[in-house]
Amino acid sequence: MRINRRNFINLGSLGIAGFTLQGFVNKQSVQGLKPIVIATWDAGLSANKAAWAVLSKGGSALDAVEKGVMVTEDEINCCVGLAANPDRDGHVTLDASIMDHEFNCGSVAFLERIKHPISVARRVMEKTPHVMLVGEGAQQFALSEGFTLEPDELSESADKSYKEWLKKSTYQPIINVERQKSKKATSQLDDIYKAPAKLSNGEWNHDTIGMVALDAKGNLSGSCTTSGAGFKLRGRVGDSPIIGAGLYVDNEVGAVVSTGQGEDVIRVAGSSAVVEHMRQGKSPQEACKLVVEKIRRIKKEKAADIQVCFIALNKNGEYGSYALHTGFNYAVHTAEGNKLIESPFSV
Ligand code: ASP
Repeated sequence: MRINRRNFINLGSLGIAGFTLQGFVNKQSVQGLKPIVIATWDAGLSANKAAWAVLSKGGSALDAVEKGVMVTEDEINCCVGLAANPDRDGHVTLDASIMDHEFNCGSVAFLERIKHPISVARRVMEKTPHVMLVGEGAQQFALSEGFTLEPDELSESADKSYKEWLKKSTYQPIINVERQKSKKATSQLDDIYKAPAKLSNGEWNHDTIGMVALDAKGNLSGSCTTSGAGFKLRGRVGDSPIIGAGLYVDNEVGAVVSTGQGEDVIRVAGSSAVVEHMRQGKSPQEACKLVVEKIRRIKKEKAADIQVCFIALNKNGEYGSYALHTGFNYAVHTAEGNKLIESPFSV
């Protein structure tokens, strides 16, 4: 949100001289909007609190975005952490990514039985020459870094949801990728996403936690962690661990993170695209909107069945969001407090 014309005029009515007033407003906008952290969905409220504990003491945006989303990884949540819904085979597989203000980035995908994938992603970034580790290799790396192997079991709520899902769904893993091109296989894939995506009350059931922050020094960082799409095909990886798709940070411009149907974010390199629009002068909200509208055009009538959302924070501490459908919200924490904002949307 920008310091708007009305705020400016209100200050003007205090009778402060023009030159001083301009200086005052500039100073206020810096002090008011830095540090700041924003995070997806209402789970972002508790995550922001942990991030704010770091930022308010002068800590780095990088530490803040790791600490923040760790809170959600520990909560009972349909879509983040080990308590989340499993894949079609009944296993929870996690994706996460993190990026700092110097283009350093790390991610893990298809990671099983490790409680804090975001911290493993950070170790990938800091301790290896690589950006991304997946599956068994990511787990081996986590263990070598001292992470603990958690039991291979579902949380009570995930177990219940999985059993429900199994009742309605034919358990037929598609083992030949070519078959996905057949009409039958395509509709099976659509069902995987539709079933958990839209609840009977019309709300969307996506809960990836994505967080971007600007610290007191003016540095940006971002993080993203998820179990991906519930009841997905085994081995499926979404946008969240893919740098440029689920998360992107360019410290000269801004930081962006996404939630929603990852496949459609990947195909437009979503978060990177939003950053590029901000580089061209668009506000965070305008930039998010341009990419959401592009996805809507690409998906045509299928846009009715998916949700895609972006949140963005620029170098000046201005923020915004845009979603394809109603129902998306995000949390914003500044020195003035922590609040939930309903996102503007397209259709
Ligand atoms: N973007 C995540 C994924 O596709 C899911 C979500 O945010 O709901 O893996």
